[in-house]
Amino acid sequence: MNHTAPPPPAVRLDGVTRVYGAHGTAVRALDGVDLAFPAGSWTAVMGPSGSGKSTLLHCAAGLERVTSGQVWIGEEEITDASDDHLTRLRRTEVGFAFQAFNLIGALTAEQNVALPLRLAGRKPDRREVHRVLDAVGLAERRRHRPRELSGGQQQRVAIARAMVTRPAVLFADEPTGALDTKAAKDVLALMRSMVDDHGQSTVMVTHDPAAAASADRVVFLKDGRVIDTLDGPSTADVADRLARLEA
Ligand code: ADP
Repeated sequence: MNHTAPPPPAVRLDGVTRVYGAHGTAVRALDGVDLAFPAGSWTAVMGPSGSGKSTLLHCAAGLERVTSGQVWIGEEEITDASDDHLTRLRRTEVGFAFQAFNLIGALTAEQNVALPLRLAGRKPDRREVHRVLDAVGLAERRRHRPRELSGGQQQRVAIARAMVTRPAVLFADEPTGALDTKAAKDVLALMRSMVDDHGQSTVMVTHDPAAAASADRVVFLKDGRVIDTLDGPSTADVADRLARLEA
C-alpha cells in the first residue's frame, strides 16, 4: 500500500465548458477550465465581472450542470449524477455561505445553524450546533434572531450553518461583500482558522484583494478561462494582477 499518495483534490474540473443559451445568443461562461482545488486549502477565485466566477462556483458545487467536461468532488465524479444524488450531495458534502447570508428571520441563530442537519434528515445534536456556534464566537448569541445581530455576526452564523454538516468543501460567494472592514477582517480570520485548525477545504469568490490575500492561492479568470494563479498572495500582488486583467 502506498501511504504517501497525496489526497485527491477537494474539487477537480477537467475541460469544463458551460454555455448559456444557444446559437446566435450563446454565451460561453466557462471555456475549457482545468482546475484542481487542493484539499485542506483555501482558494480564492477572482476576475472581472462576467468572467465566469459564479458559474465556476456553481458548477464545482453541483448546483449547475456543465455543458462538457467533468467535475469531481473528492473521489466522486458528479458530472452525470442524478438530481436526487446531487441534492443529497449538496446537503452533506458541500456547504455554502453567500454575501446575502440567507438566514431565516423567524429562526434563532441556533435554529438557523441546525437547519442543514434537519434537511439532511438528521436530528440536530445540540452539542454539535453549539460547537460550531462556539467556533465562530457566537455561543452567547445563539438565541438571537438575525435582525438582532450585526452584519458580521450574521455572516458568522451563515458560516457556522455551512460548516455544521462538516462538508468536504466550503463554498463562499463574496462572504465579505456586505461587511464593513472590521467585520470582514473577523470573518476572514474565522475562515482562515477553519482551514488551519480543521483542514476545511474552501473555495471563495471575491472582488476584494485583501480577502483574496487571506487565501492560500488565487485563481484569476477572464472570459471563462483560467489565465493566472498566485500562491501565497499578498494584497498588493493580487490588486496588481487584477488591475492588469481589468485594463
Ligand atoms: P461573474 O460571476 O464573474 O460575474 P458569471 O459566471 O455570473 O460571471 O457570468 C459569466 C457569463 O455568463 C456572463 O457573460 C453572464 O452574462 C453569463 N451568464 C451567467 N448566467 C447566465 C444565465 N443564467 N443565462 C445566460 N447567461 C448567463
